[in-house]
Amino acid sequence: MQPIPFKNSYIKLGGDFYVRTEPTPVHNPELIKFNQDLAQQLGLIETVISSPKSTEIFAGNQIPEGAEPLAMAYAGHQFGGFSPQLGDGRAILLGEIISPDGIRYDLQLKGSGRTFYSRGGDGRAALGPILREYLVSEAMTKLGVPTTRALAAVTTGEDVARMQLVPGAILTRIASSFIRVGTFQYFSAKGDLASIKILADSVITRNYPQLINTDHPYTQLLQAVVKRQASLIAQWMQLGFIHGVMNTDNMSIAGETIDYGPCAFMDAYNHDQVFSSIDYQKRYAYSNQASIGLWNLTRLAECLVPLFNENDMDKGVEVAESILHTYITDYEKNWLSGMQAKIGLIESHQGDKELIDDLLDVMAINKADFTLTFHYLSQLKHKDTTQDEKIRALFSDPNLFDHWAIKWRKRLSTETVSEQTRQSKMQAINPVYIPRNHQIEKAIRAAEDHDDFSLFHQLHQVLQNPYQIQQGKEAYTLPPESNEIVRQTFCGT
Ligand code: AMP
Ligand code: MG
Repeated sequence: MQPIPFKNSYIKLGGDFYVRTEPTPVHNPELIKFNQDLAQQLGLIETVISSPKSTEIFAGNQIPEGAEPLAMAYAGHQFGGFSPQLGDGRAILLGEIISPDGIRYDLQLKGSGRTFYSRGGDGRAALGPILREYLVSEAMTKLGVPTTRALAAVTTGEDVARMQLVPGAILTRIASSFIRVGTFQYFSAKGDLASIKILADSVITRNYPQLINTDHPYTQLLQAVVKRQASLIAQWMQLGFIHGVMNTDNMSIAGETIDYGPCAFMDAYNHDQVFSSIDYQKRYAYSNQASIGLWNLTRLAECLVPLFNENDMDKGVEVAESILHTYITDYEKNWLSGMQAKIGLIESHQGDKELIDDLLDVMAINKADFTLTFHYLSQLKHKDTTQDEKIRALFSDPNLFDHWAIKWRKRLSTETVSEQTRQSKMQAINPVYIPRNHQIEKAIRAAEDHDDFSLFHQLHQVLQNPYQIQQGKEAYTLPPESNEIVRQTFCGT
């Protein structure tokens, strides 16, 4: 077995960026799941990561050769209030690897013990949130959404104290970078411009190498991050995904979905849906995600502006404002083209946005299931309404759907593609399976209460192919029964 080919770069940025920290060993770790496909993609199949001994590594009991464990420093706005020092309180970066396709990944343990940044926390993670993050982050990958990924999950054999004692677990996860908007804010709050420059240069080298030799790399960096976030958040919206805790420390500089705490996919469509138990002001409601994205990016811009034009702050601010403005146009463009595709429109016509908004309004009034509405819509015929029954049944007043469908079919008449092409294009982007809250909850309950991981494994399996109808898996397409509805989700800290 070869060692993991670590090539660590973050540690070279200097001691202001992290605190070296080893994981705290756990009592009796057991492997829940190892992501063989991901290990293969990362080129780790021949390494100790893929050996039976790897459970000890995933548990933090053994530090693999070449790892240089550390906890990263960062700050962040949480629900609008600024904390100058957050940092990895329950995560430890083991190091970085470069995959065979040349992409650098961070390898991190989450729930591996206290660090310098733990404050009052225990540095641990409960089994439930670890299973949730594993399921949802892997589902997001298969849905085509940029995200951090799960490489492995283990139980620790130790309990953690939350509302009650619950089993502890550790997730090994990877990201194209665990640097966040909050990492920049950490140095900005201290007025440490030199470190902001070091950080920006490292992000450019690693995540945006095309900017290295451009005339204005720092303005281009802001522009590139803005572009990725405008695309990412539009994707969330198109899947009915609610992140739930879009604090600036949970916004990745690489444009990946990060930090699966109270996140959830909507069942019944509700424009202002919130699941997080602590989001009292509905700051991170579904409908607010795009504008919160801009708010967070504005915080990033404030950190980067001093690098734009050191002699003329006003000019720098002007440039930043114009870049931030592109977020709005980019997001709207992404949202509209994505939603047009969801309802089978290949061309772009005046009135398409109104048609989409109308559908969403009718869905909201009727509490129609978000995922099933688009899934069934993908199966409808243009000229023949005899197959409309399934979708009509999702609406408490099916007549309202019928009215909308008349307008939709009229609009389809102006399209030139064949029915079959339209349907297959729609089916390729409207999922059949999403990680529904009640299914996640059932999987967690079975694991926590009965040490039974079968539901977790089954759900994970179904989510591997979200766009394809799978024989015998109808139950996973269904919204919750009234007694199964999950109304609140929790951060899991
Ligand atoms: P999060 O809500 O997961 O984004 O975490 C916000 C901050 O709280 C981060 O600095 C975390 O490292 C820290 N934190 C969350 N849970 C724990 C825990 N159990 N122990 C120590 N720190 C934690
Ligand atoms: Mg976080």
